[in-house]
Parts: sequence; structure tokens; C-alpha cells
Amino acid sequence: MKEQNFKYIYGPVSSWRLGSSLGVDPICTRGKVCSFNCIYCQIGKTTKLTTKREVFVDADKIVSEIKLLPKRRIDYITLSGMGEPTLAANLSEIIKKIRRIRKEKIAVITNSSLLGDKDVRRDLSLVDFVIAKLDAPNEWIYSKINRPYGLVKFNDIVKGIKNFKKTFKKKLAIQIMFTAINKDFALELSRLVNSINPDEVQINTPLRPSKIEPLIKKELKKITDIFKKTCKKINVVSVYDVKKKKVESISQPDTLRRRGKPY
Ligand code: SF4
Repeated sequence: MKEQNFKYIYGPVSSWRLGSSLGVDPICTRGKVCSFNCIYCQIGKTTKLTTKREVFVDADKIVSEIKLLPKRRIDYITLSGMGEPTLAANLSEIIKKIRRIRKEKIAVITNSSLLGDKDVRRDLSLVDFVIAKLDAPNEWIYSKINRPYGLVKFNDIVKGIKNFKKTFKKKLAIQIMFTAINKDFALELSRLVNSINPDEVQINTPLRPSKIEPLIKKELKKITDIFKKTCKKINVVSVYDVKKKKVESISQPDTLRRRGKPY
């Protein structure tokens, strides 16, 4: 099969958090559909800023593509892509249908904005690993970094993540993108993460193409040390410390469209 024939799946990419990760895009529109318009977003400006869930891609079309996948070593099948994956109203159907044909673990990378919705929490409870974004310790920093759709409030997001954690039996990670705006709030953020008590916290900075400069290693190490001190029972990982695996991709152009150029 020619690489350009893949429309809904991409990679596998070498992910510092997931190893060899096959991307599945349940949004798959030309522009980005998201409830946030993060200042550092690697796939550019949000075209459609919304919290309305809808069906973007038929689950069977995704499954048909996955069936055509050449033999590759894959650690996780990851729902992510051109925007926020939980906006896909058929997320649970997609997950269940992938499970029927593949044995790999399934992950979702979410911006956490819809975790206040019990249907979204139910959908996410079907996967093995949820990576949930939390870049700010308060509403003000949150609005500056994530530039959300107006109705999505910071306190509701934190409440949603905490409610999800109460019932989710698999692995939950909180991912934080550190930039100049939130770098001085590491202590507040580490206390907030500690109160959520996830399995892991992922300390990141924009190393893929972005309008925002990444923090240098020394700055991120200082932040990582604060988290290690505060979050003693939580696994703390930093993007600069993890060695990435070598992975053979099936779809270089699609991978680049959704992830920016590799770093
Ligand atoms: S939540 Fe993710 S996809 Fe949406 S704007 Fe932020 S970084 Fe981009």
C-alpha cells in the first residue's frame, strides 16, 4: 500500500511517552478542531474552536485502514491528531472496534477540557492510558496559555480530572507544557498534580516546531526537581531525560502534518 493512502492513521512515531505509537486521528479535518488554541500548538491555529462533540470520521473507515497496516512493532495505538480527540462523539465505538482487531494497548492524549462530561469520562475509561493536559495552576495562566473556548473553565477541568481519577483503573498521566509563561509556577502546579494523584506526570516543553521557545535543559531540570520533591509517590518524567526509540513510520507526510517536523 502506498503511504499517501493512509488518511486516518499515521506513524508509528517514536514517542518519548509511549514508545512506538501508531496515531489514529478521529477528527481528520483539513483545519484543526479543538476546544483550546494553545500558544505553543505544533499544528497551528485552531480553525474551529468548539466543545460540541460530533462524528467526524466513521469508525469503520478507521478500522479498515488499520487492517491494511504493514507489519510494524507498535507499543500503543494512540488517539490524537488534528485537534482534541474527545470531541469525536463516536470515540467509544472507535476504541471498541480497534480492540476487536488489535492486541496493542490503546492511549488517548487529551487536553482535559471535556472531562467534566460524564460521557467523555465513560469513553476514556475504555483505554489503557490517558494522558491529560494541565498547563496552569489557575484560571489566569490557563487563559493565557491554552486560550480556551469561552465556556471551558479552569476549575471545572481540575474537577473533571479528579472525578475521572476516582474511577479510572488504568494508567493516568498529567502532561504539562512548560514555557516562559508558567515556568515560575512549578511549585503550585506540582501541588495541584499531587492533589490529583495520577500515576505519572510528564514535564514537557515545545521541542517540536512552535512559535514559542522551549525552555533549556537547565530550566526544565529545576522544574523536574520541584515535582520530584513534591510528588513523591508519582512517577516524574521529563522530555529531556527520556531516550526515544527508533521507529519505522508508514506515513511520513501525514505524520508531519499532525506532529510538525520531528526534532
Ligand atoms: S489542546 Fe492540543 S491540539 Fe488543541 S490547541 Fe492545544 S496543543 Fe493544539
